[in-house]
Amino acid sequence: MFIDSAKIKIKAGDGGDGAVAFHREKYVAAGGPDGGDGGRGGSVVFQVDENLSTLADFRYKRKYTAQRGENGRGGRCAGKSAPDLLVKVPRGTLVKDAATGRLLADMSGDSPQVIAAGGRGGWGNTHFATPTRQAPRFAKPGTPGQELEVLLELKLLADVGLVGFPNVGKSTLVSVVSEAKPNIANYHFTTLTPVLGVVRMGEGRSFVMADIPGLIEGAWEGQGLGHQFLRHVERCRLLVHVVDVSGSEGRDPKEDFRIINEELEKFNPELAQRPMLVAGNKCDLTDDEAVEAFRAYIEELGYAFFPIMAPIRHGVDELLNAVSERLSKLPPILRFEPEPEPLAPESAGRREPVQVTEENGVYFAKAPWLEKALSTIDLADSESLQYMQRLLIQSGVIDALREAGVQEGDTVDLYGVEFDFVE
Ligand code: GDP
Ligand code: MG
Repeated sequence: MFIDSAKIKIKAGDGGDGAVAFHREKYVAAGGPDGGDGGRGGSVVFQVDENLSTLADFRYKRKYTAQRGENGRGGRCAGKSAPDLLVKVPRGTLVKDAATGRLLADMSGDSPQVIAAGGRGGWGNTHFATPTRQAPRFAKPGTPGQELEVLLELKLLADVGLVGFPNVGKSTLVSVVSEAKPNIANYHFTTLTPVLGVVRMGEGRSFVMADIPGLIEGAWEGQGLGHQFLRHVERCRLLVHVVDVSGSEGRDPKEDFRIINEELEKFNPELAQRPMLVAGNKCDLTDDEAVEAFRAYIEELGYAFFPIMAPIRHGVDELLNAVSERLSKLPPILRFEPEPEPLAPESAGRREPVQVTEENGVYFAKAPWLEKALSTIDLADSESLQYMQRLLIQSGVIDALREAGVQEGDTVDLYGVEFDFVE
C-alpha cells in the first residue's frame, strides 16, 4: 500500500551537564575551578533520500531520539557533543508540528533541515569564578533537547500530473514516455501508487510526469482514496487530462471530462485553474468523426487537444512537445514556505511579569521564563541556590511576591519547589 502520511515523535538529545572540578597539582594547595562544559545534544535533522518514494518506513518506527551530549569533566575537558540523528524522507515531504499544524519544513530541496534542536551543554564551574567567588561549587546542567510530534505529508514533486478516470491509459502513457514501469491492466484500481517518470526531451531538457491513480477509484470503493491522491497533483505545474475518446467502457468522454474537472475543483479550487492540456486516448477504438467531435468540444472550452494511441506512441510526441513548451513558460514547482514560529513573549520585548496566586496559604509564582531558568538550577548545591536567589531578586520575582502580600515565613512554590520566604 502507498503510505503518504505519518505521525512520528522526535526528541533531540539533551545537552551534557557542566562539571564541578578543581585543579589539582603537587605543591599547589587549592587550584582554581577547572570543570569543563557539557557537550551539545544531537539534533534531529531531516534529509531527502532519493531512494525513498513513500513514508512507509514511518509506519514501523515512530520514535526518533538523538543522543545526549557528554558531561563535562575536570581539567577543563569539555564533554563530547552527540552526533545529529538523520531522518531520511522522500523528496516532497512536508514536516508539520502535529500539535499546531504549523509547517516546519518542505523537504523538496537538498539541504538538511534541523527539526528538533539539540540542547546546549551546561557550563562547567570555570565560568562561574568571580573575584568574590573563587571556588564555585556549582555548574549548570545542560538544557533539554527539543521534543515534538511531527506530521509527515508527502506531496510529490512533478511538473506534470496525469489525471483522468481509471483505465483511460494514464499508466500506459507514462510507461511509453519514460523509464517508469507502472502497473498496466485492463481493470480498475490497478495503479494505487503514484508513479513518477522522467521524460527526456533531448538537449538536456527533461521534466517529471506523475501517473496519479484514477481519481474516483476510491470514491467507487467508498474509501475516498481518490482524494487522498489528489494531494499529489497540488504541486504539478501542468495537468494532462487523459480521456478515453472511444467511450470503450460505455461512458461519454465529454461527461468524463466534466466529472474529473469537478473533482479537482471540489478538492482545491486552485487546481481547477491549473493549466491543462487534454489527451484523447484510445483513438484506435473509435472513428475520426467521434474524435473530431470531441476535439471541437474541448477546443470550444479553450483547451489544446491531442489525439493519441498511447500503447503505440501515436500522437505522443506532439503531446510531449506541447507539454515541454508550456512548462518553459510556467513558474517552477511550488515550494511551501515554512511558517514562522509565533512570537515568544520574551522576543516580543521584556520578560513577562510573574503571576503570583495564593492557595491554602501557599503562594505560587509563575512565568514561562522562570520555569526555564529554574530547570537549570541544581537544588542540591548551596552555591547553585545562591545563584538562584540572586536571579529571583534581580528579575523582580521577590518584589512580585512581596506585592502579592507574601510575609516572612510564608511558603512559596516555584514550579514544584517549595521554600520559606525569608527576607
Ligand atoms: P490507467 O488506469 O488510466 O492507468 O489505464 P492503463 O494505462 O492501465 O490502461 C488501461 C487499459 O487500457 C490497458 O489494458 C491498456 O492496455 C489499455 N489501453 C491504453 N491505451 C490504449 C489505447 O490507446 N488503445 C487501446 N485499444 N487500449 C489502450
Ligand atoms: Mg494506472
